[in-house]
Parts: sequence; structure tokens; C-alpha cells
Amino acid sequence: MNIPFLDLKAPYHELKDELDAVYYRVMESGWYILGSEVEAFEVEFAQYCRTKHCVGVGNGLDALHLILRALDIGPGDEVLVPSNTFIATWLAVSRTGAKAVPVEPDVATFNIDASQIKKNITGRTRVIMPVHLYGQCCAMDEILDLAGKHNLTVVEDAAQAHGAEYKGVKAGGIGRAAGFSFYPGKNLGAMGDAGAVVTNDDAIARKIRLLRNFGSEKKYYNEMQGVNSRLDPLQAAFLRVKLRSALDRWNKRRVSIAEHYAARLSGIKNLVIPFVPAWAKPVWHLYVIRLARRDALQQVLSDAGVGTLIHYPVPPHLSGAFSGLGWKRGDYPVAEALADTVLSLPIGPHLDPADADRIADIILQFFADSRNNISLEA
Ligand SMILES: *Cc1c(COP(=O)(O)O)cnc(C)c1O
Repeated sequence: MNIPFLDLKAPYHELKDELDAVYYRVMESGWYILGSEVEAFEVEFAQYCRTKHCVGVGNGLDALHLILRALDIGPGDEVLVPSNTFIATWLAVSRTGAKAVPVEPDVATFNIDASQIKKNITGRTRVIMPVHLYGQCCAMDEILDLAGKHNLTVVEDAAQAHGAEYKGVKAGGIGRAAGFSFYPGKNLGAMGDAGAVVTNDDAIARKIRLLRNFGSEKKYYNEMQGVNSRLDPLQAAFLRVKLRSALDRWNKRRVSIAEHYAARLSGIKNLVIPFVPAWAKPVWHLYVIRLARRDALQQVLSDAGVGTLIHYPVPPHLSGAFSGLGWKRGDYPVAEALADTVLSLPIGPHLDPADADRIADIILQFFADSRNNISLEA
């Protein structure tokens, strides 16, 4: 048996004719920076997210970072971030000179715990940056409510949530602005690095258009110190194909695999499967389970030829990247407990449902052994 965690070639093969055709179209155009492919993708992705603007940038980290720069976040400011996230969320903040202030997640949803936000708000807090982790939206009403009361801006990290919905509103259209990543493994993935900002705010959109392109709207007239982080037109062309022909369909396949896992794995004592609040419509970027003997199960699955990953093994506060800030084990116990017990099962859109069944069989067998069936707290 050989079930990879994620098959990145299968999406290419499924869409090969269309992707190859746009490759030749871009090659023949002679236009390789910004231009009509990027503009068309921006219109189409804004439409998809039901936002007024989309600005294509080089990657997801830059998308988040440039939103903060557009909001004039910098030294002396504080940005609330989840303690359990991919490190890019924190790096987007630290690169501005502002301080990333961690907020613990809700263990049930893995997402930032809205009830923990208030005690972390200080006179320097400017932004709350919730992450729709694993493809499921955060409890946004509570977050928007707190932001309104304390005059804070909400910036969504939607890098894992293309197409996810919160009470019928698409991820990306809930806060003031949102950053998306089109890293190849994301639900909408390019054939390389790519990212975008979506927003309904005209001023933020304009500023990000300038910032991504050396701070200039008119060539060689630089209004501010920008960066070079433009969405590549070839990647934009690939993304247009996948957005039009595949994203919703592939998200549906992820949903059906998640339902299948849930049907097979619910009811196992001491195995925690994802919790979906009634208002959430997740797109299952990842399917994350929790168990005490995580490493042992990962080994058993690996021995059986099944690829799994851990998202994420080291919480940002314990990573080398932030070691200068004096954080230690025990500072964010919920994030730490998740790092020690989470396991991501294969859930790519090209996973054969029969393979999901085989994976469930292995997990059931694993838990049938009483040495493995132990409580998470133990
Ligand atoms: C992937 C990801 C990013 C960064 O995106 P890149 O395109 O890899 O820079 C940021 N935040 C989260 C939550 C992500 O999963």
C-alpha cells in the first residue's frame, strides 16, 4: 500500500490540457510581470470571495505582512495571533517591528479562543489576526464584536480556507482584509509560490498595489518604500484554471472524505476527531485528529505505507525563530498540548475513498490494542 499524504501531480494530470494551454498562452504573450493574467485572476478571485478587491502578491506571508504595512502597523504596536498556527502568521507581524501576542486556541476547534482575547488586549493592541486553521473559520462574530469594542482591526489569515464559509460569508470577506496563500499544497494551489490579499477597503487595496511593486503605481515614481512581491502571471494563469474548473469540486471531495473519516472514526474512546460548529462550512485543508500515542500511530501508518504529517510539531513561541523573546515550555500549554498530540491524515482531493477506508481500518485496529487506547490527559 502506498498512500501519500498529498498527491501534487494528480491535480496537474486532471487538468493537464487546460494548464498546458495557458502555459503556452503566457509564454507566447511575451508579458511576464503583472498584466492581464494577473488582473483577470484578481477580478475572478475577488468575485469568488465576494469582496470588492483582490491584489495578487508573491506568497501568503507577504500578503499578511503587506496588509499590516498598509495599516501602518510597526514598532510599539501589538497584534494578537493564535498560539497554534503556522509560523508565517507570526512572521508577518514580527517583520513589521510590531509584537505578536499569542492567544491560546479552543481545544475543540483548534482555532483562536475568542474568550481568551480580551485579557490580552492592551493599550498597544491594534490588530486581531485570526487564522482559519485547517480550513475551518474562527468564531468571527465574537472576534468582530471585541474588535469593535476596543477599536481594533481584524485581519484574516485565510491561507488554509479558500472557499470556507462562516454563517454563509466566505473566508476573506469577514474582516477588514485577508491574506491567502496559493502554495502548491493549499486548497487552491499554484505551481510555485503565490498569494493574494482580498478586501472591501479601497485604501488598503490601493496601498497594497503600490507596496507589492516597489511602492509605485507609475513606473519609476515611488510613493513609498515598497517591496517586490508581485503575483507571477504564469501562476495567475494556472490559478485561473483551477479556480474555474476545480476548487469547489475539489473542496467537495475533501468534505466527503472528512465525512467518511468521521463516520468510521467517531465513537473511538480517546480519539478526538475534528469538531465542526453548526455555523461552520469547512473546506478541510487538513483533517487533524488527536490522540495520546500520536507518534506510535504515525509509525504504524508509515509502516503500512500511509503518509501523515504533524501540523505543527513546534508551536511558534518555542521555535528557534522566536527564542530571543524568553518564552518557555508551559507558557502556552494548549498550543503545546496540541503540538504533542495532533496528527494530520491524508485528505487531498485525489485521495481514493477506498484508501480513506484502509486508513480508518488501521486506526481502529490501533485503538483495539489497550496499550494504545489511553486518555489524552494521561
Ligand atoms: C501557508 C500558510 C501561510 C503562508 O503562506 P506562504 O504562501 O507559504 O507564504 C500563512 N499562514 C498560514 C496559516 C498558512 O497555512
